[in-house]
Formats: sequence, structure tokens, C-alpha cells
Amino acid sequence: AVPLVVAVSTKLTAQNGLLIRDRAAFERARDLNAVIFDKTGTLTEGRFGVSDVVGRGGVKEAEVLAWAAALETQSQHPIAQGIVRAAAERGIAPKRVDRFQSLTGRGAEAVVEGRDVKVVSPGYLREQGLDPDGDGIRRLAEQGKTVVHVLLDDKPIGAIALADVIRPESYEAVRRLKAMGIRSMMLTGDAKAVARTVAGELGLDDYFAEVLPDQKAAKIREVKARGLSVAMIGDGVNDAPALVESDLGIAIGAGTDVAIEAADVVLVRSNPLDVFAILALSRATYNKMV
Ligand code: ADP
Ligand code: MG
Repeated sequence: AVPLVVAVSTKLTAQNGLLIRDRAAFERARDLNAVIFDKTGTLTEGRFGVSDVVGRGGVKEAEVLAWAAALETQSQHPIAQGIVRAAAERGIAPKRVDRFQSLTGRGAEAVVEGRDVKVVSPGYLREQGLDPDGDGIRRLAEQGKTVVHVLLDDKPIGAIALADVIRPESYEAVRRLKAMGIRSMMLTGDAKAVARTVAGELGLDDYFAEVLPDQKAAKIREVKARGLSVAMIGDGVNDAPALVESDLGIAIGAGTDVAIEAADVVLVRSNPLDVFAILALSRATYNKMV
């Protein structure tokens, strides 16, 4: 039979917008001492708006946006959606695109009107021995904006800066976790300057930037090796291995199916503040049982 406290807690968790997929993991939540948040789409809204477009080497801003937008019509990434919207708002005519492929954790590539187009992270540029900071682009990253670079036949023709907003609930979630003695950290594929700004704004205890999708799980292992019991909370396909690796994997309800499948608990309302409900309910339920 289901113990009464567990039955009561099932009702409470449902009322609090929690979908428990693994009850044993939920039970372990009372011992957690660190929560690692994904940035984009978890601590932030994940809705990017284009704030600046920079042309390099005499290329016009509209050209930069046109090549990038053509490629990004084929991508599901929130950055892609922002770029496509910005191009449409500026009345930029769509170009023909084929052979799209995503460059996992770094950007995407396609053939647009016979030319090779890439939209990539600053890290990708550095890997190619190219400078991601010239032409006033560094200043944009220092403002906490996410900067992506546009390459035409492997030559940088410009950059696009996008701004995302921190979810208002994220501030409160970090503050309340701190009050419970739990550390808040962030794991992101985005650039260091952006991560530093968001971490500072939220008062996070630690952050890891420019982490490629296949390194996210290793970062969780690293934090666990510090002797911490760790929850990971994320929304993306790239977060799934880290969700599995953590002591408690938490998916944002509005996130991808892959993340939800990998998680122990799903935040149905997609509100990071509901992490606090998991901890409080787990502690209340299982402390009563023993
Ligand atoms: P996060 O961990 O923040 O969810 P991702 O791993 O999805 O980030 O992406 C990491 C970085 O790769 C982004 O910040 C961006 O620079 C680049 N990137 C990924 N996909 C795209 C895309 N479709 N267009 C442009 N840049 C992209
Ligand atoms: Mg994300």
C-alpha cells in the first residue's frame, strides 16, 4: 500500500505543478546542497531579440542579417528564432537555403544561394584562429549580450548581438535556495562575458561558460566530486545527459521532450521558483516518514 504521507505528497506535488517521474530521486532531493541551472530557457526566458548588427570588412548590416536569417529558418534554436524575426521585421527578403546542419553547441551551417554560410559562437571563431572581438564587438559581449558571428565561405562578414531577459522568478529562486543553505550555479554554452553578467546579476555562487553539450555531464560529475549532492535543471536536448548525471534531474515543462524524458521531476509551470517547492516538499514528506 502507498503510505499516507506519500499519497498526500503526490497531491501536494501536483498542486505545486510538479510531475514526479522518479520518486526515489525526489526523495533524495531533501539532501541536496547545490542546484545547477542551465542559462538559456531556464534562468532566462530564452526569447532572444536582436539588439545590434555589425558588418565587418565593408559588408552592410542588412546583408549580414539576410545570410544569417536564411540559414536560421532551418534551426530550432532560440537564437535562430530571434534572427529570423529581426530579418522579417526589417523586410529582408528570404534567400534560398539547403543542406542545413547544426554544429552542436557552436552554431549552424547551410548552403545559401550556393554559398557556405555559418552562424557560430565566438568560441568557434577562436578555434579557427579568427578574432571574435574586433569592430566593437567585444563591447556588445561585455554588455551581457549573446553575440553570434556570420561567416560567408568561412570569412567573417559580421556579428549579431541578441538580448535575452532573466526570468523575474529566477532572482527569488536563487535567494530562497541560499536561505536554505543550497548553492546555485549555472551551466551554459554561451560566452563567458554573458555568463559573468547573468551570474553577477542573480548572485550565483558559481558558473561554467562555453560548455559544449557533450561536456555538460562531465561538469556535473566535477561538482559531485566536490562532495556536493547536485540537482540539474534544464530545458534543452543538450541538457539531457547532465540531467541523467545529476542526483536529481529537473526539466522545464516547456522544454524539449528529450529533456523531459531524461528528468526525474518536471516543472509543469516552467517556473524556476518551483525548484524550491521540490526541496521543501521532499524535506517535509520524508522527514515525517522517518
Ligand atoms: P545553451 O547552453 O545556452 O542552451 P547551446 O549549447 O544551445 O547554449 O548553444 C551554445 C552556443 O552555440 C550559443 O550561445 C551560440 O553561440 C551557438 N549556437 C548554437 N546554435 C546556434 C544557432 N542555431 N545559431 C547561432 N548560434 C548558435
Ligand atoms: Mg537551455
